[in-house]
Amino acid sequence: MPVRQYFSCHQRLSIKIGTGDLAKYPFLNDASDYVRETHFDFQEFDRPEMDHIIDRAAERLEREIAKGLPDEKLDKYEIEILTFLVTLIMVKSIGMEPILKKHALFEAMRAEKFLTEDLMREKSEQKKRLLLSTIFKELFKVNVDISENDNRLFKVKITDYLMRASHFHEQDWKLINRLVHKGFVYLDADETVRLIRSELSELIYNKVKSMTLSTLPEAIKTKVNELSIKFAPHNQYHRYKIQDYPPCVKHALEVMNKGENLPHSARLMLATYMLAIGKSIEEIIMLFHNAPDYNEKVTKYQIEHLAGLRGSGTKYSVPSCQKLLNQNLCFATEECNGISNPIQFGRPPMLKGQSS
Ligand code: SF4
Repeated sequence: MPVRQYFSCHQRLSIKIGTGDLAKYPFLNDASDYVRETHFDFQEFDRPEMDHIIDRAAERLEREIAKGLPDEKLDKYEIEILTFLVTLIMVKSIGMEPILKKHALFEAMRAEKFLTEDLMREKSEQKKRLLLSTIFKELFKVNVDISENDNRLFKVKITDYLMRASHFHEQDWKLINRLVHKGFVYLDADETVRLIRSELSELIYNKVKSMTLSTLPEAIKTKVNELSIKFAPHNQYHRYKIQDYPPCVKHALEVMNKGENLPHSARLMLATYMLAIGKSIEEIIMLFHNAPDYNEKVTKYQIEHLAGLRGSGTKYSVPSCQKLLNQNLCFATEECNGISNPIQFGRPPMLKGQSS
């Protein structure tokens, strides 16, 4: 069993990265060491007892693509490590960029869930530090430590924090809204892990990109052929006509056209804007189709909620230009002069004061 010793201040700690951790974080180098050390032969995937792993990997991908949900099941570490590996092989062989991007994001969200739970529930500070060191420090070069005064909080250097949080658009992530003390930002477990979501996703993406595959075992090849047919409609991103929309809306649509992840605040702006100009719920749902985490049911519910057809019945307004500016979502051009809400964009000057 591959284990990693953790050294701190020249002291050897008795805590080790164990098999339970490898099941949750199969992207760690220790998991690759496990495959190497067991001399696992690639062609062994053709043995009938491996069918379970291949089916599991295919199910994981189908769940991600069809339902827009990460697989949160957790089995024994041998199964998890091999499922992770087979899933990467399948994604590489399918060779569709949108599928790779979605899978990278969902693998990151899966790991994020386990890591948040571990940091919240783990009683041993040594074990928490081991995870912080192995995942944050070794993989992403971020120093994270447990707060001295409250072991439910974690501290991150301001520079490390800003490097990541400056890409988040929600107000909560602005430094002014954080607890900052002596050069460190203090975060709870959830927020600490959220900081590295895009790096985790990039790690998976790069793993697939750098893979070189020789002959595939027949059992994997058969499954890959089936999945390639099923996923074919997802191979192309929908291209939305970018008309005379305000620059902030155009930018959101451009992000969507590339199949990239749009922050929650930008999704809200896009949906409320489209509702305000009279687009139907169905037309707006289609706009979100390229999102890596697209789930039709959830998207429909959220848009109906914004339209006032669910919950309290309140129809949401398009956020003001000032609010969008604060969220780093404003991409103003000269044509924006004199407006305070995107909905006024393109109106004759005498109507610019009216927001609906
Ligand atoms: S000024 Fe308003 S309409 Fe123009 S890009 Fe910024 S938020 Fe959008």
